Amino acid sequence: GERGLERARAELRRLFGFDDFRGVQPQVLARVLAGESTLAVMPTGAGKSLTYRLPATMLPGTCVVVSPLIALMHDQLRAARANGIEAATLTSVDSDWRETIDRFRAGALDLLYVAPERASQPGFRELLASAPLALFAVDEAHCVSEWGHDFRPDYRQLRPLMDAFPQVPRLALTATADAHTRTDILDQLGIPPDGLVLAGFDRPNIRYAMRHRDNPVRQLAALMAEEAGPGIVYAPTRRKVEDLAEKLAAATGRPVRAYHAGLDPATRAENQAAFVASEDMVIVATVAFGMGIDKPDVRFVAHAGIPKSIEGYYQETGRAGRDGDPARAVMLWGAGDFATARQRLAEVEERRRAGERARLDALAGLVETAGCRRAVLLRHFGENPPPSCGNCDNCLSPPKVTDATEAARKLLSA
Ligand code: ADP
Ligand code: MG
Repeated sequence: GERGLERARAELRRLFGFDDFRGVQPQVLARVLAGESTLAVMPTGAGKSLTYRLPATMLPGTCVVVSPLIALMHDQLRAARANGIEAATLTSVDSDWRETIDRFRAGALDLLYVAPERASQPGFRELLASAPLALFAVDEAHCVSEWGHDFRPDYRQLRPLMDAFPQVPRLALTATADAHTRTDILDQLGIPPDGLVLAGFDRPNIRYAMRHRDNPVRQLAALMAEEAGPGIVYAPTRRKVEDLAEKLAAATGRPVRAYHAGLDPATRAENQAAFVASEDMVIVATVAFGMGIDKPDVRFVAHAGIPKSIEGYYQETGRAGRDGDPARAVMLWGAGDFATARQRLAEVEERRRAGERARLDALAGLVETAGCRRAVLLRHFGENPPPSCGNCDNCLSPPKVTDATEAARKLLSA
């Protein structure tokens, strides 16, 4: 425990140049270095990667990291290598498999990144059996839960794979999991209940606001006039992304780019890189944008339409203000958004419907509250916050609880 942590702190300075750990990093690291399986729930930007990168360099053998997106893996790979960590990926776009496998078997890799699909492929278990293993790290672990907001069936193959190596500890990582999802992740990945490490979720520098969407271009242009720094606008469809990007550029004269899965990969990569490098660009995007992007100076995140859930909302808005400076999260909602989402429940698989409905109800509760937004958010993640934060729309200018909220309630639950 303690001695492991002392060594880890020395490595932190030597490899990463950081002065000290942040938040719950020491609790997570102490468990991992002691070989104890752990689920770490830490907000976006809290430094989850360090909790497996550091043990990967300290422990003999390789840390196998399961990560859901190839683009994400390659970002991680670059970051790890920049810190002098021996890292590789085994993905469909890699051409150096032979060399990677040789290094893996020889124990020369600290980190090996793979996609969850790899886990279910024949031969992968044998490959793991032929190499020295230090740790399994499962990033974005909420993907294993049907209760989570981003279920990926391939994550269900991880448990049997890891069970074949009972001596190797597991570290599951996620930014967003309510109590129900957390229990499910522990269960699905075979981590004991006392292996949960939960960090504080509050992002005090983010100011939350939710408004009725009457004229999104005008409303977003007004926000851009107030916030000169980089911003992300989430829109629900590709068409709306394109449309808003064009109109906001015309209305504001600011650099504005679009990002969605329908753009060709080169354009997407170029727009993302331009945004990351820019000090004033606004990117209009579908939720496909943002995972794994480490841009500290995003000054606002706006939603031109409702997110899928409170978890999604928290994750998306969490991309604002990672540098700790004031940042804003503005949701422009319409009663029609909720009506559409409720209609879509009918198309959801029956065993998932109750969960989806509960998520939508929780989101409606956040939108329609006349109380503190932050308190609703934090209570959703199991915290016990003070009743008023002083940094959300309702705390800063308390709404008159009159017919207006009554009308909104009726619209939202219709
Ligand atoms: P997460 O995966 O939790 O969203 P990351 O692992 O990507 O977060 O880390 C976010 C940023 O914080 C990275 O730039 C990382 O280098 C930095 N970071 C992590 N731990 C520390 C620390 N102890 N001190 C300073 N910066 C840190
Ligand atoms: Mg991460």
